[in-house]
Amino acid sequence: MPPRHLADLDPAERRAAVADLGEREFRAGQLSTHYFGRLVRDPAAMTDLPAATRARLAESMLPSLLTPVRELTCDDGATRKTLWRLHDGSLVESVLMGYPDRVTVCVSSQAGCGMACPFCATGQAGLTRNLSTAEIVDQVVSFAAIAASGAIPGSPARLSHVVFMGMGEPLANYPRVINAVRRLTDPAPDGLGLSQRHITVSTVGLVPAIRRLTAEGLSVTLALSLHAPDDELRDELVPVNQRWKVAEVLDTAWAYAEQTGRRVSIEYAMIRDVNDQPWRADLLGELLSGRLAHVNLIPLNPTPGSRWDASPKPVEREFVRRLRAAGVPTTVRDTRGREIDGACGQLAASGVGQ
Ligand code: SAH
Repeated sequence: MPPRHLADLDPAERRAAVADLGEREFRAGQLSTHYFGRLVRDPAAMTDLPAATRARLAESMLPSLLTPVRELTCDDGATRKTLWRLHDGSLVESVLMGYPDRVTVCVSSQAGCGMACPFCATGQAGLTRNLSTAEIVDQVVSFAAIAASGAIPGSPARLSHVVFMGMGEPLANYPRVINAVRRLTDPAPDGLGLSQRHITVSTVGLVPAIRRLTAEGLSVTLALSLHAPDDELRDELVPVNQRWKVAEVLDTAWAYAEQTGRRVSIEYAMIRDVNDQPWRADLLGELLSGRLAHVNLIPLNPTPGSRWDASPKPVEREFVRRLRAAGVPTTVRDTRGREIDGACGQLAASGVGQ
């Protein structure tokens, strides 16, 4: 794992860590204020810390975890993808999306992914390792600093939303992801002070982990990557379905919705002639009708070597129409970042930086 970082620790642990360095405990609060409150990471800018201890504190509590290797932007700067190198050479990507009313960052929770969904670029190379809590949090803090500098044209300066929809399966890295959610939502300066409701955790449907999340008492939005309403097809598209079937994963999602009062977001990538038939729309509508759910259709984003394509627009429109006719709120996700390989399922972090 990477070096320990302030963002791995809760406030009490930070004080203990600072005391271990022979420093006064209130220095922990000062460091937290710099990192989470002011989004400052350069020790030279921490002028309220005595110069003699500044470098030592920063080195021990704020080690550099993410080195930008490549930054790509599109949509006139409103979409940015950063490729990061981690301390051990692993590569991960995160994406920022600026909208008129919000700034969203899409973070990675693992280097690679072990879930092997055949239409997703990240899934093709397998899992390298889990990210630490701080490696997850630091992706957000980095982008929050960019937003705060006013660099996202036409968007607020405050980063407000986080989606765990980058590389990796967040619920397969459960304790670190939950810890990261706490760091992101604890009020400043202990954390970044985001609203829990503005955080979305997306999963292939690891049933025991969803149950654990339900008991956690958080009110984050749960997104479930369903992609097929029937087990036969879902076994292929989302291989973990071979272990936890559609009916079981949906029941678990409804229990989450009931506990939190939050609508579950059902993710459905529209794949031409694979999962986009009218009968599948009707079956999906039956499964979801009357539930606390909405469907987010994602036009399939092309990935290298994939045999699959996005559904044609008229097919997509008919799918939407049938779901809405069944009373299921349905939206089609935009394909932000496609041209920089930053859209859903395109994060691969390969062949770069050399
Ligand atoms: N592992 C988590 C989060 C990462 S992916 C999960 O599966 O939910 C975020 C979303 O993008 C998931 O719904 C995923 O299935 C979808 N996705 C993956 N590859 C895609 C592609 N090529 N086109 C469109 N969506 C894709």
